[in-house]
Amino acid sequence: MTDTDAGLQQPYPYRRRELIEPDWRRLPGWRDVTAQEWASAQWQRAHCVKSVRALHQLMGDLLQDRFYADLERDQAERATMSMLVPPQMMNTMVSAGVSGPAGPKRAAAQQTWTEAFYADPVRRYMLPVFSDRRTDWPSHPHATRDSLHEHDMWVAEGLTHRYPTKVLAELLPTCPQYCGHCTRMDLVGNSTPVVEKLRFDLKPVARYDAMIDYLRRSPGVRDVVVSGGDVANMPFRNLETFVARLLDIENIRDIRLATKALMGLPQHWLQDDVRAGMQRLATVARARGVHLAIHTHVNNAASVTPLVADATRAMLEAGVRDVRNQGVLMHGVNATTDDLLDLCFALLDGAGVMPYYFYMCDMIPFSEHWRVSVREAQRLQHAIMGYLPGFATPRIICDVPFVGKRWVHQTEEYDEERGISYWTKNYRTGIETADPDALSRRYEYFDPIHTLPAAGRAWWREHGPAIDETAASNRAGASRAVAAAQVG
Ligand code: SF4
Repeated sequence: MTDTDAGLQQPYPYRRRELIEPDWRRLPGWRDVTAQEWASAQWQRAHCVKSVRALHQLMGDLLQDRFYADLERDQAERATMSMLVPPQMMNTMVSAGVSGPAGPKRAAAQQTWTEAFYADPVRRYMLPVFSDRRTDWPSHPHATRDSLHEHDMWVAEGLTHRYPTKVLAELLPTCPQYCGHCTRMDLVGNSTPVVEKLRFDLKPVARYDAMIDYLRRSPGVRDVVVSGGDVANMPFRNLETFVARLLDIENIRDIRLATKALMGLPQHWLQDDVRAGMQRLATVARARGVHLAIHTHVNNAASVTPLVADATRAMLEAGVRDVRNQGVLMHGVNATTDDLLDLCFALLDGAGVMPYYFYMCDMIPFSEHWRVSVREAQRLQHAIMGYLPGFATPRIICDVPFVGKRWVHQTEEYDEERGISYWTKNYRTGIETADPDALSRRYEYFDPIHTLPAAGRAWWREHGPAIDETAASNRAGASRAVAAAQVG
């Protein structure tokens, strides 16, 4: 508890904080980088950290060798996403720097930097290392690659129809940054030694045509999430063409463009041609009464810098209806009351971004060290209520396989000893049209086993299916085959 106004003690003391753009010149590899270079999207893309070697070159001797070895081992044995961190995001790690002595005491400074880097919340999900991961249960036995079964629900290649009135259009399988916990790790990014990525079969133009064709034939769909990947990796004129085609479909009323790059590479959204193109799209959207919005993905307050605020302002000035944040709740990154509220206030007060959702981290392989239990998510939802305006209070969401988004308090039943929660749903997906039990069946979600009481952990050791990454991979391949057959 901390004293706040009028002597009241509150669990979270609100104070308005100014956003800060950390000085990139504290990192040896960027000592001579100018403000003009930093503001260039091309420079940012060309200087992403994509390898252990590149990180070493950037950090010089700030970090001890043990960190690089830890990272290298993770890339070889655990990582489901390849390494790709734009300078803008690198610069928010250990953002205040670490002051330390030079000369003979250099080793002590290196130790301090290394510890700060290990503890950094942005580093924890953008540059995961082997020692971050659980060794008891690195993956949940029910973890799968396409954990939300989006491929199962494809109605055209890359077009997931999971909810009655909305669809997800995955236009491309790449992003300007790769997050270690990516839920679309099955498809997005480059293959890693652990995960051979699936690939789209159709060429982009044919895929987009098939999506548009389905939407023209589907008057029950009113809402399209245009995603990937990240739409910032699409040549803007191609994105504009696709969105313009959506705007021509009478029943489409909401279009949301998904881009983590608004935070990870705000320089992209600040380019003149992108701003002008967004203005053209927003003008048409407004004239037709369609809500065009941007959805971004920020997980920690450290990432919200003045440049992120500039990019948000540029999009709002271009005429998009709103910029909203969908973060992911992760242990070590943001799963405390203070971290969530700090982030929400930085977004809302500092950058003009609406806090919207926090998703629980999905049950993909090797994600157990990030995941929290449903009970912990419920506790956090309770803890953040009442501080933010109601319209900006994010909902913490469990994305239940075969069900979709549920507020974390919507469990039908919850066996906390075994960490199994049971959920129901009130609509059918396309793969359940002939299933009479779809609306009465209970669907399961699983807490991380290491968070369970001793009796629950013992139960999983005795009864749980063996962890088998190959089986998870094969299941993903099979679901892909089914989806491919469905969409012809
Ligand atoms: S930006 Fe989104 S799609 Fe891309 S790697 Fe991160 S979580 Fe995955």
